[in-house]
Amino acid sequence: MTEVQPNTETTRTRADIEAANQRLETLIRETDFEAMSPQDLLSWVGEAFEPSRAVVSTSFQYSGMATIHMVHDLGLDLRVATVDTFRLHPETYAFIREVEQRYGIEIEVHRPEGAEVESMIQRFGEYLFFDSKAKQEYCCQVRKTRPHDRMLTTADCWITGLRRDQSPARAQTPKAMTVSEYGSRRQIMKLNPLADWTEKQLLEYTEANKIPVNGLYAQGYESIGCMICSTPTSADEPPRAGRWRWFNNDEEMSQEDLKECGLHVPMYQI
Ligand code: SF4
Repeated sequence: MTEVQPNTETTRTRADIEAANQRLETLIRETDFEAMSPQDLLSWVGEAFEPSRAVVSTSFQYSGMATIHMVHDLGLDLRVATVDTFRLHPETYAFIREVEQRYGIEIEVHRPEGAEVESMIQRFGEYLFFDSKAKQEYCCQVRKTRPHDRMLTTADCWITGLRRDQSPARAQTPKAMTVSEYGSRRQIMKLNPLADWTEKQLLEYTEANKIPVNGLYAQGYESIGCMICSTPTSADEPPRAGRWRWFNNDEEMSQEDLKECGLHVPMYQI
């Protein structure tokens, strides 16, 4: 695992940014991403982007692991990155090392700013996420989305494991879109190669290819994130019911649509 410092590059001119944005717009307009298999899409990334500017961002769940496996299988030299919120399960930390060994890769680990975490804890306490949806989102911003945003300043292409069958909020996920770099006019290509895969397809692919699996799945987890905030689910619960479980009793906050940390759905800030 390599801890990565935020990129401080400031040399891009407005004209450079506009030209790069224009290129992405043309790619989106002229490429039939929806017809591509995940492997076709990843191969396309290898041709369309510098490998050092294309990153698979993952929390090492089934979709992310299938993507890493495909990238490896295709012989692509894309980056693999994750965010360590400092609150991951011990099983996940061990699993990251296992994935590095299995695929012979070095995974970039992006962490929150220590001063921001300290200030948040002093203001609201370490377990602020129990208090309200707003405080949970604030914690996710400090520990997860801000480090992730900093990571994206070093990339032109962001590859995710989002799938349409994961939740109602993700049902319309396109295979390709552009998103704005935080606080900037610069656009980033966001690709979701497995968007149209079902969970069944994914599990079959995982098994057929003997892809490593986070040991938390065997303990009943269906969605894996931070300790406390992700918990095992029972057979009759939706996959993300184990996320921020204490909100499940609140009619407004229990909707699957709201079970997001902000990486894929913009949130408000305290
Ligand atoms: S999942 Fe929980 S602990 Fe992790 S960043 Fe979000 S609120 Fe904080």
